[in-house]
Amino acid sequence: MNKLNEIHELLKDVESGRLITRKESVELLKLPENSIEAAHLCSVANIVTRKRFNNKALMLGQIGIDMEPCDGDCAFCFFAKSFTKIKPSMLEFDEIKSRCDGFIAGGAAGVFLMTMHRFGFDWFRDMCHSLKQSLPKDFMILANVGDISIEQIKELKEAGVSGAYHVCRLKEGIDSCMKPSGRIKTIEKIIEAGMDWYTQCEPIGPEHTPEELADQIWLGVDMPCVQHGAQQRFPVPGSPLYSKGIISLARLSQIVAVIALATQNNKNQKSVSVNVSNVVALLSGANAFFPEAGEPLKEEYQENSHEAADGFTTALWRQSNEITTADCRYMIESAGFSGYVKY
Ligand code: SF4
Repeated sequence: MNKLNEIHELLKDVESGRLITRKESVELLKLPENSIEAAHLCSVANIVTRKRFNNKALMLGQIGIDMEPCDGDCAFCFFAKSFTKIKPSMLEFDEIKSRCDGFIAGGAAGVFLMTMHRFGFDWFRDMCHSLKQSLPKDFMILANVGDISIEQIKELKEAGVSGAYHVCRLKEGIDSCMKPSGRIKTIEKIIEAGMDWYTQCEPIGPEHTPEELADQIWLGVDMPCVQHGAQQRFPVPGSPLYSKGIISLARLSQIVAVIALATQNNKNQKSVSVNVSNVVALLSGANAFFPEAGEPLKEEYQENSHEAADGFTTALWRQSNEITTADCRYMIESAGFSGYVKY
């Protein structure tokens, strides 16, 4: 039996519930993205995810609430202090609330509030508390912030933040100014504090090897996350990693598929995410998107949605229009999902 036949045999077993090992994940990540074996992988992950999550999808909005040249200085990031042209700014509470209302109107289950690596903790905690009081109880407030202490995580939990996104990035400490150990410690504290941990394999570029991807994916296999997924790195003009380019949606979906199969027995997990939102990944094991804007509620918000003069979403990096809940719903429905995951 040749190696490619072995891949097909493995995928047949996996479809029946067998978990893949880290070593097998490396073999699956080595497959050429447009091969018949990669297509088989994506198809099995699609079947597994639909069964696992009862054919339900999930949308979690994202709002960047402050921005400034960031000390994290990541070599891929729009905000890295070495090369960003961004001016410091911060969203007002009413604007954050209004954007959350838009996400709720569009069917999102919660929102990630994103900051720079360093941020005003007391302001953030108090703002989360006020936001939680002013929004429907079941709408989740989630944090995507820098490394913080366990006491601070507990304070956020008290304030109504139910989960946090955190990741030890690919090439952390090489392409960033942060240490992998510090990032992993924060993840451990999130879990220890009883907060839901959201993660992804990111930011994926064409230069990352199957072994590097598998190492990073396995953090979310070994530690209990409520969401795992994959994120493509957008090449920011002027950043040191710009010339490395971007992975294709086929490659991104192949990585999503491996994540869906590697985590299929993780009982805590409610979704497999992908960023950037796209239909190919929804047919390859992903069931969760991060819309960048909710339903347009106000005329001025519609007019200014792509300018992002205050606050930010990842649309600012792409210098394009924000992906709305309506865009996401269209893709989710087109991919044949029949409803939304309940928390
Ligand atoms: S990725 Fe985060 S930590 Fe790194 S420079 Fe950008 S905002 Fe800062």
